[in-house]
Amino acid sequence: MKKTAVRNLRLCTKECLCLFVCPTGAADTENSIIDAEKCTGCGRCVEACASSAIYLVPAEYPPQQKHDDDVLSAMNTFVTSKLEAEHTASALPDRFARALERSNRIMAEDLLRESGYMLPQSRNAKKFLKEHAEKGNERAEKLLKMIKANE
Ligand code: SF4
Ligand code: SF4
Repeated sequence: MKKTAVRNLRLCTKECLCLFVCPTGAADTENSIIDAEKCTGCGRCVEACASSAIYLVPAEYPPQQKHDDDVLSAMNTFVTSKLEAEHTASALPDRFARALERSNRIMAEDLLRESGYMLPQSRNAKKFLKEHAEKGNERAEKLLKMIKANE
């Protein structure tokens, strides 16, 4: 499977080792985003980066699996319960409640991701991007053109 490198800008400490080891210059860009056109997925930058700020991802994602209605219904029940718990925690004071609020949100998002509901190529993601593109969001418009929905 062809892979491509991506850089997590939050973790990048600008040590620039990746720039030295990259054989194609893909890591050396003005905006710090790795140039997917030039990247061959060799992984040298991943090994070189001491901050673990670069990793390889599939260049193209496989089609989503179809989900039965009962699976979707179970997912909705789970996610709804997590969102209710998040809402309850948000009304409480103190740090423990904040942690509870956050962990319920993360669990709900994980469930949606695991079930393929939030994959970039999913129908839901496309609908979400379309809504933003219609409001004039140029980035959403660009992403819509780049990501093929394959559901
Ligand atoms: S080697 Fe890692 S930390 Fe250094 S510039 Fe590259 S991505 Fe950033
Ligand atoms: S995977 Fe290879 S080609 Fe791609 S950015 Fe890293 S070093 Fe460069």
